Amino acid sequence: MASIGFIGLGNMGGPMARNLLKAGHELKAFDLVPAALDAAAKAGASLAKSAAEAAKDVEVVITMLPAAQHVRQVYTGEGGIVGAVSPGTLLIDSSTIDVDTARAVASAAKAKGLMMLDAPVSGGTGGAEAGTLTFMVGGEDAAYAKAEPILKNMGKTIVHAGASGAGQAAKICNNMILGASMIVVGEAFALADKLGLDKQKLFDISSKSSGQCWSMTAYCPVPGPVPTSPANRDYKPGFTADMMLKDLKLAQQAASSAGATTPIGAAAAALYGLFCAQGHGAVDFSGIYKLIRGRN
Ligand code: NAD
Repeated sequence: MASIGFIGLGNMGGPMARNLLKAGHELKAFDLVPAALDAAAKAGASLAKSAAEAAKDVEVVITMLPAAQHVRQVYTGEGGIVGAVSPGTLLIDSSTIDVDTARAVASAAKAKGLMMLDAPVSGGTGGAEAGTLTFMVGGEDAAYAKAEPILKNMGKTIVHAGASGAGQAAKICNNMILGASMIVVGEAFALADKLGLDKQKLFDISSKSSGQCWSMTAYCPVPGPVPTSPANRDYKPGFTADMMLKDLKLAQQAASSAGATTPIGAAAAALYGLFCAQGHGAVDFSGIYKLIRGRN
């Protein structure tokens, strides 16, 4: 079992940390929010007073932070982890951030003789609770080999996507598919309604036909067909529209710097931008169905 520093105990990091404790690892935890720290302590973690303290004298550091600026600050900002940890510590960032920041932080770590992986996840808060996340990992083979058994305590599918930044590249490509597919599934249900086709019938047919996709069968944006989907609890997240917009913007930023053409991804980013600007950023991202359907 390993000694692990865990930083960022929010909707995802909280349950991921609990699964590491359940597997028998020793955890030193840090977050800025006292309630998150209390929950981690109740689950058996010892508490640190700063990110640097959580990262000191452990074998592995895992971070699960909101966005790139937090990752930069925690790793390479004043009093950051990179300057605080012992040589040989493995650093794993599971936040979803842009590829360039992931590579820049990993090379700052490498310059100090540290191994670092980008290891963003898919599977949402349900997957974090159940320990069934998918991890997409970027970084060197030796670091991946060391990380894999630990990531298996939090996830079911662990894929070494390639060199540093490849995990983040996989994540934004995946979420561009997800954002776009959620919109079109919503459009299909809104169209079916106008055509007098029962939503359950559309689900029964499309979930077994070529229109089948995760946005329909696991996370259906209309109430009814998939009882566990957020549509049945007034679109309580889950995965917020703000977070989907963040990922779609990351995809657009990456597409623009790599010279890729992504018109449907761009349209999805624009629609989520509108939905969030209307004050729905904290709603589950499947709530975009309400915008598509309109008042009726
Ligand atoms: P969250 O906002 O619930 O949690 C982030 C935590 O980081 C918070 O508790 C916050 O207090 C803490 N934090 C922020 N700055 C900090 C600092 N300087 N030091 C210590 N702690 C700090 O977010 P989340 O839903 O857990 O998401 C985390 C990451 O995972 C994001 O990058 C998100 O895009 C990604 N993600 C989320 C989901 C999801 O369904 N929520 C799914 C896949 C990926």
